Amino acid sequence: AGAGAGGGGTRFDLEKETELRFEVEAGEKVQLELLTGLAEVFGSELNRNKKYTFPPGSKIAVFTWQGCSVSLSGKTEVAYVSKDTPMLLYLNTHAALEQMRRQAERDNERGPRVMVVGPTDVGKSTVCRLLLSYAVRLGRRPTLVELDVGQSGVSVPGTMSALCIERPADVEEGYSVQAPLVYHFGSTTPGTNIKLYNKLTSCLAEVFSQRCEVNRKASVGGCIINTCGWVKGSGYQALVHCASAFEVDVVLVLDQERLYNELKRDLPHFVRVVLLPKSGGVVERSKDCRREARDDKIREYFYGFRGVSFYPHAFDVRFSDVRIYKIGAPSIPDSCLPLGMSQDDTQLKLVPVTPGRDLTHHVLSVSCADEGEEVAGGVRRGLLESPVCGFIVVTNVDTQAQVMTVLSPAPRPLPRHTLLIMDIRFIDLK
Ligand code: ATP
Repeated sequence: AGAGAGGGGTRFDLEKETELRFEVEAGEKVQLELLTGLAEVFGSELNRNKKYTFPPGSKIAVFTWQGCSVSLSGKTEVAYVSKDTPMLLYLNTHAALEQMRRQAERDNERGPRVMVVGPTDVGKSTVCRLLLSYAVRLGRRPTLVELDVGQSGVSVPGTMSALCIERPADVEEGYSVQAPLVYHFGSTTPGTNIKLYNKLTSCLAEVFSQRCEVNRKASVGGCIINTCGWVKGSGYQALVHCASAFEVDVVLVLDQERLYNELKRDLPHFVRVVLLPKSGGVVERSKDCRREARDDKIREYFYGFRGVSFYPHAFDVRFSDVRIYKIGAPSIPDSCLPLGMSQDDTQLKLVPVTPGRDLTHHVLSVSCADEGEEVAGGVRRGLLESPVCGFIVVTNVDTQAQVMTVLSPAPRPLPRHTLLIMDIRFIDLK
């Protein structure tokens, strides 16, 4: 592939089945334009002569099945063309899934339920996006189930969610997030409360199955489940649990033969476990990089991004007007548990919290739960399994006046009064 000047940018001519990979430098923006031919970014087609802008830190691959030329302008950290991509294998995977959807349509069955697994930085989210975009381009309506509580593609970190995909992800902005179903998990790793993680996985599976019963297109479209990169110990058990809760038909294992063998051994024989290579383009992300991505996701929730600006509201909330809970009491030795209580109960227990200064900067989920719900033995039933309707950030706590100031996407009053604390903090610099 030759690089040369063209329209103020650098021109790249790509042969068929190759991709241009680039990373945008910190503090810079890069513009991409398709000049000739056909190309796509993670499964979403590019329009000719439209300028796509990517923010600092973006890691992008422009792939072409037929050949194309594109121009890049702005500062990139790296930009190179690769001929060595697993895209053909990914496309074949998509074709096999589409075959299953056709069969489901014909036999009045349900479409494929697919779980994508692998260690961190192997491109799980990217493979999910690719498979969803290809399916939706054929008129399917697959559901994305996002179980990656560290780097959610759907909502803020610390959540688990499901989203019906109706159009390919936007090249610049990702999924159009309309009415996702979101649950509060509260932290960025499943390990903080594995019981809750598994419980919410089951909740999502149940809601998805109910939807499939009443919506034929959703049933045929099936789902693509994105999981966490934690694949050992309880993390591995969580994958096995997810496979059974969703009754998955296919597991795509990216890049790890050991995990592939373990799942083949532990899942029922009718589950197809497939090992796929990772793309050489997937970039490893440092801890800082991940933290920044999480921060960006929360900032976007309140302030919007790119073309769309939101104007969040700041107002005071009286302690007496809300009920604040943390999920999970600190674990205590089994021998100290009250009679008839198990460790599970402590992990799923709702602990009422009186706001103190240490609540400052914490993200809180606003639960959709009905206010008048029963309190049975200290466990408010229904609250854990209730989706959330939004998020706020505590920006100040005044214990003297018994009020806290919050940042909220909507003006006062809060739509609901039950709030769940996340471990996650957001410092609002605006
Ligand atoms: P996590 O460990 O957070 O779950 P992951 O396995 O889901 O990560 P992705 O988020 O899919 O990994 O990919 C990591 C990064 O690599 C992303 O920024 C993505 O845009 C980039 N990326 C993926 N594939 C390519 C490619 N072929 N060329 C260049 N960049 C890529």
